[in-house]
Amino acid sequence: MGSGQLARMFALEAIPNGYEVSVYSPEQNSPAGGVGAKEFVFDYEDKDALLSFLRSIDALTFEFENIPDFALSTIEDFERNSDLIVRPSTSCIRIAQNRWKEKSAFREAGIPTVNFFSVFTEQDKNDVPKKVGYPCILKTNTMGYDGKGQVKCKSEDELITALSSLKELNHIVEEFFPFTSEASVIFARFQDGTISHYRPSLNIHKNHILDLTFHPGNFPSMIETKLVDYAKKLAEKIDYIGVFGIEFFIKEDRILCNEFAPRPHNSGHFSQDSGSLSQFSLQLRTLCNLPAPTEIPVRPVTMKNILGEDYKPESKLWMETLKNPHFRLHLYGKTEARKGRKMGHWNYSGPKPESAFEHWE
Ligand code: AMP
Repeated sequence: MGSGQLARMFALEAIPNGYEVSVYSPEQNSPAGGVGAKEFVFDYEDKDALLSFLRSIDALTFEFENIPDFALSTIEDFERNSDLIVRPSTSCIRIAQNRWKEKSAFREAGIPTVNFFSVFTEQDKNDVPKKVGYPCILKTNTMGYDGKGQVKCKSEDELITALSSLKELNHIVEEFFPFTSEASVIFARFQDGTISHYRPSLNIHKNHILDLTFHPGNFPSMIETKLVDYAKKLAEKIDYIGVFGIEFFIKEDRILCNEFAPRPHNSGHFSQDSGSLSQFSLQLRTLCNLPAPTEIPVRPVTMKNILGEDYKPESKLWMETLKNPHFRLHLYGKTEARKGRKMGHWNYSGPKPESAFEHWE
């Protein structure tokens, strides 16, 4: 489901392995279509088209979590009456697309989070400003990503004002955590419960969008162990089969989990050039019951995202960079370079990975 860059990079793994890949989304000439995936170009609400797509495939996976409820229910009905393999399960997708369910699942799995409160009713709207600590962040409960739909409030008055302007009540309020670093773990769990994962990465965001990933993040070993343990706890608690990315805030020895994405994650793109299996290979293997690798060797990689405003294929910087064999360019085949749009990424795997992009500003 979906035909953007994550579907493209999945197809680039699956097609050379002999699989046929079909993608479903309303987008024509999609990134995945550009590398040989068969496109089903229909609305997510078009039941007949979705059913004919589902009939044409053996196994289904997702490149994004914000699948409309109607499409998810259609998939669930179809799956009950067919042999279609769906990984991860739609129940995992439903958890990931709802911040309240997601953070509650973390808590139930024993994974620490910031304090959070739901704002689903008028009563919640009155009560929450008195309960929450400040500063706090008001977030939409669903359909939020890259900081969209978020308002930071420094005081009770600011939160009351923000809440009073809401048109509908489907939100959460979270306490702000003054973290010093953000980390993520790319984690895979196979049908028989076997797991594979990379070492945790360090992520740097710019304007709420991922800018750089340093892999491995070289956190103290106690922190690394905890991050991986939390990923495993989540996978087992919600019986996850497939690949996911899970994101954490860290301050000294305090770790809080922010969110997880039920699919390969932008912060896992380093894995394409880390001298081992990529996160898309793990996605394919978990989906098609291929063996789990016995280990994932680590080669340091620094990943830098290319957003629309930085998409400069003819610039001197790009040309010089392409001369250096330690850099690899991955582009997503998008023709329109809008501001903030993810167009591609660079992976650097050579000497001094920590300073690979230092001179880029
Ligand atoms: P999200 O959409 O929840 O991933 O939030 C986007 C970004 O906003 C995160 O990567 C953080 O940089 C920041 N952020 C979100 N929630 C919090 C929080 N509770 N405390 C501090 N920073 C936050």
